[in-house]
Amino acid sequence: MANSAQSEQNFIGIDLCEPILRAAIVSGDGSVIERREAPLDRERVVQQVVQVVASLRDRAANVTTVGVAIPGLVNRFTDRVLASTELPATVREDLHSELMKATGLRFELENDANAAAYGEYKVGAGRGSRDMFYMSIGNGIGGAIIFDGKLWAGASGLAGEVGHITIDTEGIECICGNTGCLETVASAPNIVRRAQERLDRDSTSSLSRLAFNKEFTADDIAQEAKNDDDFSLMMIERTGKYIGTGVASVINLLNIECIVLGGGVMDAGELILEPIIQEAKRRAFQPCFEATRIVAATLGKDASAVGAALLARDAA
Ligand SMILES: [Zn+2]
Repeated sequence: MANSAQSEQNFIGIDLCEPILRAAIVSGDGSVIERREAPLDRERVVQQVVQVVASLRDRAANVTTVGVAIPGLVNRFTDRVLASTELPATVREDLHSELMKATGLRFELENDANAAAYGEYKVGAGRGSRDMFYMSIGNGIGGAIIFDGKLWAGASGLAGEVGHITIDTEGIECICGNTGCLETVASAPNIVRRAQERLDRDSTSSLSRLAFNKEFTADDIAQEAKNDDDFSLMMIERTGKYIGTGVASVINLLNIECIVLGGGVMDAGELILEPIIQEAKRRAFQPCFEATRIVAATLGKDASAVGAALLARDAA
């Protein structure tokens, strides 16, 4: 009876990653009933969340809990947002209590990569595994570890910062203060930086279609790679090798059964997944590698909102 009662409950998940606020109402079994999205208004986050919650509650009844995925550090015990480069301090301070006060609903806050990991684990690419590592490769590189169904927080809530594994000891400085982190070569802005630098110094690269477009993005590089542009294919393959090097370290460290790769950079599909797997195979301890399933995420842009909703469900 407990299960059927839970299946009648619905849960709202909201992802506050700039530039878009994404929200979904999710049933007890994890399927998305309805979505909303709007440009995130950093200065009016509370009002925006209150509005989207009201509009989703018009579409499905029985909502008592809302999960919010935060681009930043969240202390799950105190529900405080400790740090976020994207949310202004005035929004962060009392976000949790203000949302509860304004809606009368219960709110669960979680870091966005952790929320996405939980979504993939429960209803996405990681479904069926007991333990899972999640890596999100987009504007930054984040990660999360799930052991036995639970997000593993580490000593201070920072476990899984795979983007700051050192890949190149001679590399450029990272926002974290270290040099040569995985993020400094494989995040979307750094793929563009590497491509731009090569195009600037290598005249044969001017044959690349990208050279005609001064302001290109990592998506453009992936698109040109899909159109068989040799230079773009090489950039994607090398990026895959960097990520695969990081994945090999994760495999050696955790001997984990499943690694799910998500985030915008993975939109390049097989073109990037294949070199990641090959490089991980080349570098990881073979018996560990053979025990690991490396797969692309399946929830796409829904991952953090759906995961946040499911965290809200399971925290109940
Ligand atoms: Zn770093």
